[in-house]
Amino acid sequence: MASAPALQLPDVEAMSAEEALLWAYEQFGDRMCLTCSWQRQSSVLVHMVFGELGLDIPVVELDTQLFFKETYETRDRLVERYGLKLIRPDVISVAEQHAREGHNLWERDPDRCCHIRKVEPLEQALAPFDAWVTGIRREQALTRANAQRVEWGARYGVWKIQPLVDWNAKRVQAYIHVNEIPYNPLHDAGYPSIGCIPCTRPVLAGEDERAGRWTGADKIECGIHTSQGDR
Ligand code: SF4
Repeated sequence: MASAPALQLPDVEAMSAEEALLWAYEQFGDRMCLTCSWQRQSSVLVHMVFGELGLDIPVVELDTQLFFKETYETRDRLVERYGLKLIRPDVISVAEQHAREGHNLWERDPDRCCHIRKVEPLEQALAPFDAWVTGIRREQALTRANAQRVEWGARYGVWKIQPLVDWNAKRVQAYIHVNEIPYNPLHDAGYPSIGCIPCTRPVLAGEDERAGRWTGADKIECGIHTSQGDR
């Protein structure tokens, strides 16, 4: 685990999402990247970073190759509208994973599957960067309730910039509508949180946003936002 380098932190919690991004850009410039998995937080941050603030930072796509077709279509619409150039970390094919780990690893050991398809590729992608912009929001799950707008991510040795940390789902949706930003249509079909096809279902009324992820498994995080990153 890397320890945090010295950084003079202003009162980032009092900043707006835009102010936090501008402050982070001043600190890190293009040594900061934005990661996208094409959920609604990605839509907001892509618009805010490139459309509203005109910052010049790389975008890392975390594609497990198991996303819904609506997710890929959303990516294509955002890429086209904002002229995004994506960094795509290597990930083994699903066929290779079947051969190496046995069929449908996600059913037997989702932590290992997430480690192979998400955590390792993210480690590789973040290696050249000092800061990472993520779309985490506190209200998404109890595991995210203590997330900070800026925090040290010892797991990857980067600062995590989380501009939307205090936004609720309503505010996210309003920003998308007001700015007419392309977004994943599955959000309108009962999927507040969207991951890989085998591990995502719509939620029921009253359930947490992330209740539709890894149903039946004792798991609500893929590991990229936890300190240990699973295995
Ligand atoms: S969400 Fe499911 S399919 Fe996707 S990487 Fe994790 S365990 Fe594998």
